[in-house]
Amino acid sequence: MVKVSPRGVSRLKSGHVWVYRSDIVSADGVPPGALVGVTDQRGKSLGTALYSSASQIAIRLISRDPVADFTSLLRQRLADAIAYRDAIVRDTDAYRVVFSEGDFLPGLIVDRYNDIVSFQVLTQAMDADSLRQVLLSELNERLHPASIAERVDPRVRELEKLPPRAPALVQGEKAATIFTMNGVRFHCDALEGQKTGAFLDQRENYAGAAQYARGEALDVFCYQGGFALHLAPRCAQVTGVDSSRPALEVADQNAALNQREIEWIEANAFDLLRDYASSGRRYDTIVLDPPAFAKSKRDLDSALRGYKELNLRALKMLRPGGVLVTCSCSYHMSQVDFLEMLAVAARDAHRTLRLVEIRGQARDHPIVLNVPETAYLKCVIARATN
Ligand code: SAH
Repeated sequence: MVKVSPRGVSRLKSGHVWVYRSDIVSADGVPPGALVGVTDQRGKSLGTALYSSASQIAIRLISRDPVADFTSLLRQRLADAIAYRDAIVRDTDAYRVVFSEGDFLPGLIVDRYNDIVSFQVLTQAMDADSLRQVLLSELNERLHPASIAERVDPRVRELEKLPPRAPALVQGEKAATIFTMNGVRFHCDALEGQKTGAFLDQRENYAGAAQYARGEALDVFCYQGGFALHLAPRCAQVTGVDSSRPALEVADQNAALNQREIEWIEANAFDLLRDYASSGRRYDTIVLDPPAFAKSKRDLDSALRGYKELNLRALKMLRPGGVLVTCSCSYHMSQVDFLEMLAVAARDAHRTLRLVEIRGQARDHPIVLNVPETAYLKCVIARATN
């Protein structure tokens, strides 16, 4: 049993599912990763949670009711997650199958890339062998993958005081495949690549951006070419920029796979935009999809400066009527802050920006309203009217 402080109680009552260690009053004898009942200081039940002995997030609530056996709940929630994707995912064989708190399975991520399924465990509780067995049997039964791969975030495992693990195929022998989203084909290696493979959260934004793209296009922070490849059918010329050579090599293979000619440039985006802006280069479509600059609240000011610099330079390079697709995947940067930053950048660039669409993460990354951390991606499409 875990007892939480009044602040922890009000957090849970507000609809959130996390209680931080500083709001735990007692967790005597609770083993790492245990399923625990949660109560207030007087012993009134608040529900059932998964416990971590190491993380600052000490408990993640999985139910407001008592739960005797987590394995049957896990089965049910996996079935629900898959049924939800069946209902909302279209035009792709690659999508997020389980999005941790967004699917009421905190600490678990599952992605599908055509016939390969990958999963990642982020908490002590989800690392239990008994749960892995249930997970694998459900994934097999419902998705029939050729292989199942485990991806690993070494930093998370260290924070959770979990033994190190190497990324590996836990079933099958196929580690590489080709998946298709919005009619565009991509190479995928389940054991390589950043984060969890491709940026599935941008899938709907790729299609959104393609609708407005035209002329000469620049995809900044292009990784393996997600935006660039979607823009190519609409644009006269597309250039992708990234600092990672391995990412650009895959991008180039993806271009060949789709019979597209795209120019890939290995460069620091900040330097390149500065050079291009001052040498008078102009584009009709610019995409900015940088990595998360604000990893914590403390970084917010410097992150805002980074986003502003990028957006300012991009706006200066847009031809009249040009389209800017600008993203931020920092949870700590709110949509309001992001739009305000963009407004200041537009003012300083002497451009009038008209919003075309304010978008977020694809629907296979569901947002739980009272768990704000589940909403992190912003994607604004705007037209510079002058
Ligand atoms: N738009 C991509 C995802 C971008 S992820 C997609 O849709 O798939 C962020 C990318 O920024 C990574 O590929 C990383 O290599 C690159 N990156 C990080 N810092 C960079 C920098 N200073 N200049 C250029 N690229 C950078």
